[in-house]
Amino acid sequence: MVRNSKLAKSISDAGWGQFCTMLKYKVELEGKIYIEVDRFFPSSKTCSNCLHPVDNLSLDIRSWQCPKCQTRHDRDINAAMNIRDEGLRILAGGHLATASGQRVRPSKGTAFRGNAG
Ligand SMILES: [Zn+2]
Repeated sequence: MVRNSKLAKSISDAGWGQFCTMLKYKVELEGKIYIEVDRFFPSSKTCSNCLHPVDNLSLDIRSWQCPKCQTRHDRDINAAMNIRDEGLRILAGGHLATASGQRVRPSKGTAFRGNAG
């Protein structure tokens, strides 16, 4: 997103790095794992159904149809699914030192500790 000159300024203004830092802190406080997907991972341009990459997908195109499997995609939903899957792939590959020996999801007690009594 930062490579796009129109989006770069607004992302920088919003303090993307600070947002990620706060998100990482909150996630780890909850006993969960924070994973960053490579910034150049083609999340929008890859079909989340068959993984076929498309060459060009300008920002004004908000939905598209995969030329290989014919699946229709909402651009943002497709990208979110690809980012989720890439994060799970990284986690399964054990590329994070913090992944070994830690729980992926907190127990019910941890998740609802504030309301349990
Ligand atoms: Zn496809």
